[in-house]
Amino acid sequence: MSRVEQSTTAGSERPAVWHEMADRVVAGGRLSRQQALAVLRSDDAQLLDVLSAAYRVRRHFFGNRVHLNLLINAKSGLCGEDCGYCSQGRRSTAPVARYNLVDPHQVIEGAKLAAQRRARTYCIVISGRAPQPRDIEWLTELVPQIKRDYRLRVCASVGLLDRPQADRLKACGVDRVNHNLNTSARFYPRICTTHTYEDRVRTLEAVRAAGLEICSGGIVGMGEEDSDVVDLALELGRFQVEALPVNFLIPIPGTPLEEQGRLDPRYCLRVLAMFRLTNPRSELRIAAGRELHLGPLQPLGLYAANSLFVGDYLTTKGQPPEEDYRMIQALGFEAVVEGAPEPGPIAPPGRRQPGPRPQPE
Ligand code: SF4
Repeated sequence: MSRVEQSTTAGSERPAVWHEMADRVVAGGRLSRQQALAVLRSDDAQLLDVLSAAYRVRRHFFGNRVHLNLLINAKSGLCGEDCGYCSQGRRSTAPVARYNLVDPHQVIEGAKLAAQRRARTYCIVISGRAPQPRDIEWLTELVPQIKRDYRLRVCASVGLLDRPQADRLKACGVDRVNHNLNTSARFYPRICTTHTYEDRVRTLEAVRAAGLEICSGGIVGMGEEDSDVVDLALELGRFQVEALPVNFLIPIPGTPLEEQGRLDPRYCLRVLAMFRLTNPRSELRIAAGRELHLGPLQPLGLYAANSLFVGDYLTTKGQPPEEDYRMIQALGFEAVVEGAPEPGPIAPPGRRQPGPRPQPE
């Protein structure tokens, strides 16, 4: 019987095993696949201990800071790919807006809004399999303006990229590229047939080779198994992604995954804890679906995650930003803006913190 199983079946109120995992991670170690699976499969009685362990890691690397991100859907619909979760793909009959590149003025106004909302990163998203030459041109004209006028980091989400395209994004001032692996290599063919998991991995390699930061995460709730979620987390750990958005599937009517049910909010918390423990230095973002699936448990998610979108998602609404600010404030956390110094490690390795309560910095 493994250590995890022993602790679990012993029914101890505060199983040491989760904190031992946190100790190991804070000291620079890694979780095994089996340990990551154990986090996902832990029972509700241990949820606060699991979350507390994740919080110790979050606090060590990020303090109580929250990174905010604002997203603009700069080109919508019009995509020939068949990603089953997406309302903009060719298999979707969802009534989403379909438009080509928006007016540059709208992008600049979006940057202004991002700065007003205390976002640190402005995410510019263009639908489609891969960017057209015109899309890249458009970005290379707009990004320098945004960087000149606002204290924002810019993340571009433009589909599959090769190295020359990634180099051009880097040269114009893009800080980070978003390209989600979404799920495991095993499960990927079940959600998309028009491109492969390997295509996505190659994009991340091109992005990294160009010297850009990587934002890559996934979607939970598409019918995958726990082991797929763990494999995704370990693969993202291999890339040491700077940002890791965890989406919980919003089953949009008209998409192939419209029948997927609602996730257990406590499972969502375990998912976030597992991503934190396997990717301790990544900006872990609770992305789309947090309102739907976490519901009243949303604040607890921030004990593992340290990043949120403020405002709407790509084709679905988010909660009003004021509610996000209230949640952050109620937790005793603070939003961090671009240019502010990172806190650096603040808890000595091996020391246990009490339960998941906000600590004064
Ligand atoms: S996720 Fe991207 S590539 Fe896939 S269908 Fe949607 S817009 Fe197209």
